[in-house]
Amino acid sequence: MKIFDSKTAELKEFVPISAGQVGIYVCGPTVQSEAHIGHLRSALSYDVMGRWLSYLGHQVTLVRNVTDIDDKVLEKAVEQKQNWWSLAYANELLFAADFRRLGIQAPSYEPRATGHIPQMLSLIATLIERGHAYKALDGGANVYFDTASWPSYGELTNQSPEDMDGQETSADKKRAQDFALWKAAKSNEPATAAWDSEYGRGRPGWHIECSAMASHYLGTNFDIHGGGLDLRFPHHENELAQSRAAGHGFANYWVHNGLVTVAGQKMSKSLGNSVYSRDLFALASAQTVRYYLSSAHYRSVLDYQPSVLAEAEAALGRILGFLGRAGRELATSGFSAADASIAIPAEFAEEMNDDFNVPAALAVVHELVRSGNSDLDEKRLSEAAEKRDQVTLMLEVLGLAPSQWESQVSSEHGALNSLVQSLIAERDSAREAKDYATADRIRDQLSAAGIELSDSQNQTHWSLS
Ligand SMILES: [Zn+2]
Repeated sequence: MKIFDSKTAELKEFVPISAGQVGIYVCGPTVQSEAHIGHLRSALSYDVMGRWLSYLGHQVTLVRNVTDIDDKVLEKAVEQKQNWWSLAYANELLFAADFRRLGIQAPSYEPRATGHIPQMLSLIATLIERGHAYKALDGGANVYFDTASWPSYGELTNQSPEDMDGQETSADKKRAQDFALWKAAKSNEPATAAWDSEYGRGRPGWHIECSAMASHYLGTNFDIHGGGLDLRFPHHENELAQSRAAGHGFANYWVHNGLVTVAGQKMSKSLGNSVYSRDLFALASAQTVRYYLSSAHYRSVLDYQPSVLAEAEAALGRILGFLGRAGRELATSGFSAADASIAIPAEFAEEMNDDFNVPAALAVVHELVRSGNSDLDEKRLSEAAEKRDQVTLMLEVLGLAPSQWESQVSSEHGALNSLVQSLIAERDSAREAKDYATADRIRDQLSAAGIELSDSQNQTHWSLS
């Protein structure tokens, strides 16, 4: 198994610190607002990695944090006239619901920054003791990491400190690159957003939380550290510097997932082109969204266009269509060959072992679907059965197998779905017959019941409004 380590910029053989055990720390969301497509993609990338490493027989411990206090959370709370902590929690719940909907397995643990202030303060004390952090020069409660004291600062992103972006000079720090470990409480911030410390009341800087929580749960030296490419600098650079300066081995492999663009443009509030998870779930089933987000290599840029979900739906439909067809035709022909020795094809494993190359692994799935369909055409039933079982195993690893999605759907949802689907079918035939009055009446009826329809290229989806 090879993993691309973004610190050394090379594919490295993956060797866990303890045989059979893998510790992964992933930077989770700052919960100042709801999840967008980039958050979903990031969480999904590490979900697939965790699933594959588990399939290989490792016991995977995946820790993904929640940043529930930070400048942005406090600002949003003021804007929305809410408590910062209830705003953060409400968004955390929205994220969790979206992740669950997408079939993302719950991490082994999901620590919140606010629950780990003692661990952060202890790490800050160690850094001061070792001469790598200092109290504000003006006597205030800020504490800074002393970048000049750490010669390898910049090693993660291979930059020299002088060339780094976003340097902020301040009268209470030694040099512009020094970053805050502890931030003095501000008079305009709520009292609940500050904690006592020997430096004075304040709250943690963003970077220190991940260093403290990673070592608390995974130990001072662990296997994989992941997060979005946008976090490489300054967040991960600073995490690495402070953890190493504290004497921690920290992560052996650094993994970064690529960003999502929208029609070739960076997603940004000013452009108003953000794609939220609710936008995706209104256009396609969660299973289709999962397929779509998996279909690009985790390190590449994923460019979202309105047409992509219909393409993903068609591609996933070809796979599920084969499974359905094989199930029906094998059952009617009375074929029964329960071969327990069916294994994942070696080609699929090779692609997954090559830095989690999911798009190439999906190509192996599609190849088997094509030849499985030919087997059915030619009545080669045992070959078709074997391919059906292999396709199912591969989909299970990717979190896309039909059985994994059926179990998420409650019986109430199933009953509602079957009623709505029959009305959608009625509306479709009305539209085909150009009876638009009937088609509109059906849509209005559903809408009155709180059910919204959305038409994509060749399918209609429904959601509760
Ligand atoms: Zn982090």
